[in-house]
Amino acid sequence: MAARTSRVLHRSLRETPPKAIGGEGVYLFAEDGRRVLDASGGAAVSCLGHQHPRVIAAMAKQASTLVYAHTAFFSSEPAEALAETLVGHEPGGLAYAYFVSGGSEAIEASIKLSRQYFIERGEPQRQHFIARRQSYHGNTLGALAAGGNAWRRAPYAPLLSGAFSHVTPAFAYHEKHDGESDAQFVSRLAAELEAEFQRLGPDTVAAFLAEPVVGATAGAVTAPDGYFKAVREICDRHGALLILDEVMCGMGRTGTTHAWEQEGIAPDIQAIAKGLGGGYQPIGAMLASGKIIDTIRAGTGAFQHGHTYLAHPLACAAALAVQDVIREDGLLTQVKERGRQLEQRLTERFGNHRHVGDIRGRGLFWAIELVADRASRTSFDPALKLNQKIKAEAFAHGLGCYPGGGTVDGVRGDHVLLAPPYIASADEIDLIVDRLGTAVDNVLRSVN
Ligand code: PLP
Repeated sequence: MAARTSRVLHRSLRETPPKAIGGEGVYLFAEDGRRVLDASGGAAVSCLGHQHPRVIAAMAKQASTLVYAHTAFFSSEPAEALAETLVGHEPGGLAYAYFVSGGSEAIEASIKLSRQYFIERGEPQRQHFIARRQSYHGNTLGALAAGGNAWRRAPYAPLLSGAFSHVTPAFAYHEKHDGESDAQFVSRLAAELEAEFQRLGPDTVAAFLAEPVVGATAGAVTAPDGYFKAVREICDRHGALLILDEVMCGMGRTGTTHAWEQEGIAPDIQAIAKGLGGGYQPIGAMLASGKIIDTIRAGTGAFQHGHTYLAHPLACAAALAVQDVIREDGLLTQVKERGRQLEQRLTERFGNHRHVGDIRGRGLFWAIELVADRASRTSFDPALKLNQKIKAEAFAHGLGCYPGGGTVDGVRGDHVLLAPPYIASADEIDLIVDRLGTAVDNVLRSVN
């Protein structure tokens, strides 16, 4: 029988990770005495770092008053206040918030709300959803069906809804043709999306779903100028909804509260999660436009969905405190400034590196992509598991970063994602790049 070290079902069934026993600011402390600079906030979660005193105080206050009340009977002050903070000013027409426990639940709710909206509008034939390859929308079955990530989907393919199809993402490094301008690339992607609407029947499409800045699967991939305007126009012309997944890139990560603000468009439905609660509590949300909710209010009068922990008062109080700190401390400005510094340092350290093909990102959301050969953009053999090796080497040097890659939908590549807390100091940003540089060079020496 295999040796057993823990009753917890960890990600690896062969290894038990060290216990984290504390944290402060950008650092996490392990039981073996290591201090790890959390340069990716876990998976772009810890936007305020660890144990932020104002968030902990707000949670303690809420915990001493009310922790849980079922939404079939009650609302709560933290839920009402958090919704007011997020959508009271109706950003881009988003007027209502539905609080769930994480990103996948927010995506599931978004898909179901779209479907119910069209049924209640008298368009029940709208049952197709278009998403993009090399995207990740979560691991529950609906969200997994939405994601365009072949290896994650493969084992569960028979269980996944056939309502989703996938088009080419706006991933310039891998998808743009040689000599093609940004405008030509955008036109080609728009034509492909239009063709997919036509293939399915334009009046059968409920929504197009995309991450404004692609996180886990591709590594901080921003779209070329004009892409999201083109997508919005196609959805509008065909009467379909636009759902944006800002679970990873939202809530200030790219320098504006919502990443879509920098694209000159707004979604009809939006999913948020990680930076909403900053990891202080499990919380996500679906934000929905007034037009959708008004239609359902005038129809059946209820969103036909729900979970036990909807709008959990302690989770909402934690998220409210996180959002208050971001606003009161002017952290969006800090994300922009430190983001420029991070870009500059990454460019100095890796801009001429023979095995770094691309440095990309926005705000405090950056990735480097490793290549065997820069000129041909040839990736390393996925069997090397280069990104995993860099993660392990960085961890050994006291740096937490988020690896990604291997082969995703036929596109091979290894990247390392950085998403430092918004509170990171200038020195800490420098330290992140130094430690990452050491880890990358050590690993490349061992495989070359
Ligand atoms: N959508 C995106 C863009 C994500 O990055 C993630 C998680 O990484 C999810 C959805 C799923 O969120 P969760 O893991 O909280 O269910």
